[in-house]
Amino acid sequence: MNTNKYLRASATYFFHLFWFLAIAGLSGCSDESSTPIANNASDTQIELTETKQEHSQSSIASCSFDIIVGDYLKFNINEMWVKKSCGTISINLKHEGKLAANMMGHNWVLTKTSDVTEIAADGISAGLANDYVNAKDNRILAWTKIIGGGEETSISLSTIELIEGGDYTFFCSFPGHSYGMRGQFNVKS
Ligand code: ZN
Repeated sequence: MNTNKYLRASATYFFHLFWFLAIAGLSGCSDESSTPIANNASDTQIELTETKQEHSQSSIASCSFDIIVGDYLKFNINEMWVKKSCGTISINLKHEGKLAANMMGHNWVLTKTSDVTEIAADGISAGLANDYVNAKDNRILAWTKIIGGGEETSISLSTIELIEGGDYTFFCSFPGHSYGMRGQFNVKS
């Protein structure tokens, strides 16, 4: 009984395989008239994928952000989507922890991703009095001051210099924090 079932299943399988190969062979042998159909099909697939991404990006892109930090090495978000058309975006950083700025201070710094390592190292040299930021370094696109538990700070940032699709990262420049406290900063039109 089981053997019969198996044989029947195999027969069905080979029957389908035969037709698959026959159709594949036909389209392979035919002239270019079948090629546009294949291209159209793959184009449609790409369009669908792009539409889906576009939707997920536009649903979270914004001109204003409330970012929460606490007595831990983490932002409450790990990516940001901004619209270049905002002209100005605002960042509001809130520390909901209890520890003081010299113990568990946080800030929000924006640079190109390729500049993060150097900017973070320079920030340590700059010290707490300078918010762990070397303000003379024009590779730093924006930054907030360092805040401790219970504090809050806001900045505005122009989108004019931001490049759509550019590779930017936001991070905290408090010593040792930039490895975990960072996220992707995405700019769309
Ligand atoms: Zn931090």
